[in-house]
Amino acid sequence: MDRREFLKSAGACTMMANLPWLTLQGFGNPQPSERVLVNDAHAGMNATWVREVKKPNSLVQLQQCIADAVAKNIPVSISGGRHALGTQQFATDSILIDTTSLNKVIGLDPNNGIVKVEAGIRWPELMEGLRALQQDEPNPWVIRQKQGGSDGICIGGTLSANAHGRGLGMKPIVGDIEFFELVNASGDLVFCSRTQNPELFKLAIGGYGLFGVIFSVGLRLMLREKLKRVVQVVDVSDVVEILEHAQANGCKYGDFQYDIDEKSPTFMKRGICTYYEPIEDSVEIPLAKKQLSEEKWLNFLHLACTNRRKGFDAYTDYFQSINGELVWSDTSQMSTYDQGYRAFINTNIDFDAPVSLMLSELYTPRDKLPEFMARSAAVLRESGIPNIYGTIRLIEQDDETFLPWAKQKYACVIVNLLVENSEAGKANAAETFRGLIDVAIEFVGSYYLTYHKWARKDQVLACYPQMPAFFEKKAKYDPNLVFQSDWYRHLHKQCASVG
Ligand SMILES: Cc1cc2nc3c(=O)[nH]c(=O)nc-3n(C[C@H](O)[C@H](O)[C@H](O)COP(=O)(O)OP(=O)(O)OC[C@H]3O[C@@H](n4cnc5c(N)ncnc54)[C@H](O)[C@@H]3O)c2cc1C
Repeated sequence: MDRREFLKSAGACTMMANLPWLTLQGFGNPQPSERVLVNDAHAGMNATWVREVKKPNSLVQLQQCIADAVAKNIPVSISGGRHALGTQQFATDSILIDTTSLNKVIGLDPNNGIVKVEAGIRWPELMEGLRALQQDEPNPWVIRQKQGGSDGICIGGTLSANAHGRGLGMKPIVGDIEFFELVNASGDLVFCSRTQNPELFKLAIGGYGLFGVIFSVGLRLMLREKLKRVVQVVDVSDVVEILEHAQANGCKYGDFQYDIDEKSPTFMKRGICTYYEPIEDSVEIPLAKKQLSEEKWLNFLHLACTNRRKGFDAYTDYFQSINGELVWSDTSQMSTYDQGYRAFINTNIDFDAPVSLMLSELYTPRDKLPEFMARSAAVLRESGIPNIYGTIRLIEQDDETFLPWAKQKYACVIVNLLVENSEAGKANAAETFRGLIDVAIEFVGSYYLTYHKWARKDQVLACYPQMPAFFEKKAKYDPNLVFQSDWYRHLHKQCASVG
């Protein structure tokens, strides 16, 4: 089957669901006992009361959920792996559609390397599905990029944030999306690609679930590659050159993990630069083994919370010990992550108040990276909030989506702050994140929408000037505002306010 035929057949199931058009009039007033408390999976800092959680496991069930919500005049929110940290996946008093049972691999086009999956599938399930479909294939198709910090993220959530991994020379995930099918507020299944419904394609990728529920995704793959890991301890001023040079020499992955000890002069300055060189196909790769056990990962986390000098030195030693290892391009992107990390650190470390990890991601033009890091280090030192883990990656410009975060070839700087889960702790974190965004704006950079909703209006509009136009498109495609989130409600109100 050639690519055009595959795309046609993938879209062939596009249909009208013949659901009655019902309008939303108001949200009523539910009793507390009727509601369910949900929260994000990582920080546990986004507790939200929803009316009901529905978990469809087929297209028909999904369409029925939307029809029921519309019939009851209740808005719909949509969750995948619940890793977004700014209530993008929850709306107070909504019906929450949990997509994680829509997790099947629908089919693989082996000629063109495109897999069609249900959007609630998580990375490990997708990778397992690809393995099962290509058991005897010596040269199998595998994923190109995934998020670095966690595997439990769904493809629908990945697409909705337009996420990225540690790819070199790669755009965010939009670059890997061939098509998707979305169930809109009328219950219709709409096929979207660069040529069919192109506007909706650009809006829904990076559109945080505001245009309908993505039911399926056609994801571009790559042929599996054998790689050698190269690890160097370098200064941040050399990182862009090293990674761009590695990319020019055929490396597809690389990043820089920086020193987290705020008391050291090398804080956010020196660190571990890792890239992955392609190697001869004839070389044998040892049987895949997990690089970092959950136990070791928790030990590093404990050290990062209690003694960052010792922690980062131990982490550097660990990375130097895996220098030169031979790995596969897909499995080497899997991450170690323990969802019980909060219980672990809160039980084993004597904090003044319960703590969580809050992420943020800032973007700077690549040539400004060293100055950006120095200024960000000053903001973090001033805040007194520990940055317990941080990486830098490179991203290519996203010239396709409506609300792009990768507005140019940026360096992406990720911080993980140890935040007290109290009103005062959150207020300090919010102020600190705003301080980091101010630095990014000064360098004509930007920030990632997925991690919080604490940016000021002027910051939102400086980094995402098309936000008001985005809301107009939202109103065009979903005039009755069926699909909502607390993040959307907040931003919409914020951007509509005068001044
Ligand atoms: C520990 C950790 C590490 C991370 N690492 C990275 C990283 O390396 N790179 C990166 O880019 N991001 C990273 N992220 C952010 C993450 O990629 C995004 O927050 C992503 O949107 C989470 O997807 P999810 O499946 O968890 O979805 P949720 O958090 O449940 O939802 C996220 C958004 O997607 C929408 N959505 C989900 N499924 C659908 C669907 N089927 N149809 C329509 N809308 C849908 C939701 O409504 C919501 O707006 C990380 C987050 C955490 C907590």
